[in-house]
Amino acid sequence: MRQITTANIIAIGTELLTPYRTDTNSLYLTARLNEIGIDVTSKSIVGDDVRDLERAVAAALDHADVVITSGGLGPTADDLTREAVSSVLGLTMTEDPALVEQLRERFARRKAVMPEINRRQAMVPRGATVLPNPRGSAPGLLIARGEQIIVLFPGPPRELEPMFVASVVDALSARTEGRRLRRRVIKIAGQPESKVDQVAAPIYSAFVDGVVPVATTILASPGQVELHVSARGVDIPAMDAQLDDVVGRLTAALGDSVFSTDGRAMEVVVGEALRARGLTIALAESCTGGLIAARLTEVPGSSAYVLGGVVSYANAVKHEQLGVAATTLQTYGAVSEQAAAEMATGVRERLRADVGLAVTGIAGPDGGSDEKPVGTVCFAVAGPGDALVTDRRVVPGDRQLIRAWSVMVALDLVRRAVR
Ligand code: ATP
Ligand code: MG
Repeated sequence: MRQITTANIIAIGTELLTPYRTDTNSLYLTARLNEIGIDVTSKSIVGDDVRDLERAVAAALDHADVVITSGGLGPTADDLTREAVSSVLGLTMTEDPALVEQLRERFARRKAVMPEINRRQAMVPRGATVLPNPRGSAPGLLIARGEQIIVLFPGPPRELEPMFVASVVDALSARTEGRRLRRRVIKIAGQPESKVDQVAAPIYSAFVDGVVPVATTILASPGQVELHVSARGVDIPAMDAQLDDVVGRLTAALGDSVFSTDGRAMEVVVGEALRARGLTIALAESCTGGLIAARLTEVPGSSAYVLGGVVSYANAVKHEQLGVAATTLQTYGAVSEQAAAEMATGVRERLRADVGLAVTGIAGPDGGSDEKPVGTVCFAVAGPGDALVTDRRVVPGDRQLIRAWSVMVALDLVRRAVR
């Protein structure tokens, strides 16, 4: 049989065409398909309309080896995926008595009687394989059509995801002849995307057409740039060795702004460093309003090193709760390295932490001046020991961006202070 290399995904549901719901299933499916060497060459979102669905399914079958749909397998009249796919493929549907029984049992376990409309979920196109759905009533379907494979999943991600792993991934990877995608992610803090690329491009471009071709993409988010370095093929040891080499060269060239090469997020890296050194941290947050505390405590087990924090938004709180001197606030202003330093030492002392981290800035849109424009943010890290580091930066962007960026810069300062 011919190898499969391409897939199209169709996310089905009128709600996905509103501003209120996002199709995330295709992202999940794309990640899993890429891992087994299948490219997603197109995806679409289609409302609950049988004609539109038929058109989308027919177009996908014209273009890809694998077509995957999500949604529209429910019992109600607007769930039309089965009908549309059967009609495009010219397959009749019959009720599967075993499935009807399973559905009845599912309802009986919940002390309910199955509504008759749920029998629709037991309709199976001729020749299709039924994919069990342990978390919901709608079973999935897998249909082979010549060399092509069509898979129908229910819409809820918590149902689709385990079904893909349990019933589909092996069937697909059996047809990719061991082709795999291997990916490494280098995460860099505090550098603009253009600067990272200036350093990285001469290195990674030399590997684009190598014996093991390596593809590199660059992704920026506030305060962080990621280099995704990947290889695809069947010789996994050779791909891994090549990626190790490229990642090693890139990391060496980018220096200590690289904070992870194994996918770990900044808050994980900082947490592990604190834990390894047996240090605790306390936070004094002004313009980030608790975002740093939230980020650090997203990590399970962070209670080992996060003591707590003060959202010291008002000057009175900076003064009364953290001990920032009134003269400091008057002379230098609340957004100053001096104020940040006193916030950091104050919160460290009052919470009896080894490290105090402080952020104070102007997130805008108001409050800027010539001397301190919107985006001016001051940072301080007090400790461990006698160390005191302060920094002042000006970032472009709106309020949300400035706050998100400040979180990353602040955590990176801690990373550098405790490594
Ligand atoms: P059900 O039996 O639960 O009705 P279904 O196959 O009919 O299954 P839908 O009704 O299309 O699924 O979707 C159910 C819910 O799943 C949606 O309300 C939505 O929250 C979620 N969902 C559907 N499609 C997607 C998608 N592409 N990405 C993320 N969530 C989705
Ligand atoms: Mg539904």
